[in-house]
Amino acid sequence: MTEEGRRRCLGVVDLGGSKILSVVADDEGHVLAEDRRPTDAEEGSEVGLERIGASIEAALANAGLRREDLRAAGVCAPGPIDSARGVIPEAPNLPGWHDVPVCQYLAARLGVPIMLENDATAAAYGEFVYGAGRGCRHIVYITVSTGIGGGLVLDGRLYRGASGAAGEIGHITIDVDGPLCGCGKPGHVEALASGRAIAREAQAVLARGGSPWLARLAEEEGEASAATVQRAAEAGDPEATRIIQRAGYYLGIGLAAYVDVFNPEVIIIGGGLRHMGDPYLGPAREEMARCAMEEPLKVVRLVEAELGDYSGAMGIVALLREGAATA
Ligand SMILES: [Zn+2]
Repeated sequence: MTEEGRRRCLGVVDLGGSKILSVVADDEGHVLAEDRRPTDAEEGSEVGLERIGASIEAALANAGLRREDLRAAGVCAPGPIDSARGVIPEAPNLPGWHDVPVCQYLAARLGVPIMLENDATAAAYGEFVYGAGRGCRHIVYITVSTGIGGGLVLDGRLYRGASGAAGEIGHITIDVDGPLCGCGKPGHVEALASGRAIAREAQAVLARGGSPWLARLAEEEGEASAATVQRAAEAGDPEATRIIQRAGYYLGIGLAAYVDVFNPEVIIIGGGLRHMGDPYLGPAREEMARCAMEEPLKVVRLVEAELGDYSGAMGIVALLREGAATA
């Protein structure tokens, strides 16, 4: 086999706050093998980089391939990233990681060009090419979990904005007098509709003795997380259901803004909170329909992401296939 012929596969790392997912795909974008391991971000970025390198090599080994078989590789990571320098400046869920030169490290270790992209931006592109946005040209992707991230594909192209910060649709203000967001600004969608917002509301309810049911579950589990609230709601706790509906209501106000500004064909919802189902997504749909303008509402569909864990990784695969990694 020629050298050209052997350098045929693509390597991808989706670096998350809690886990690393590495994927090896062929040049047509078919996943050949993967590796999963915990990030253990608190052990620091040096150990973290070593773990990322080991993970992608394990995925290669699982596919029966070697480093020499890689044509290019890429990483998606949370928080703002510096694609031009290939550096993760800092990320809220990678505590203690500052200016981590992930591209330089992996390029030296793997001997191929490495690209770096924000995880929600990559996920938007993954859903656009392989998932719920197939066949569309204008999509808004939103991931709702502890925080809220997003990405935009406009006119068939990934839209990154002037400094790569576009698509942060969790950070638009929908209540100027609302609670401060994790980013420090007032009343953002993330501060009112995310898992963190649901947990904060639950703690407020518990503090005023509002729900004995939720209090018992929270005591059993040692915390009142969004998942605790969901379990209480499923067990029939009206206060827990109200908290989730309220978060959905605020999500809908955000969705209406995206409908009016971007006129998308689809809004794709990813992230763990979409599993809250109707109590969360029902009010979101209603509020979107109540607040957005009629014309863009006629064309937009609100759908769930199709690629699950793989949205981000498949976005990088798609970008690598288009030749995104060049340096
Ligand atoms: Zn914010």
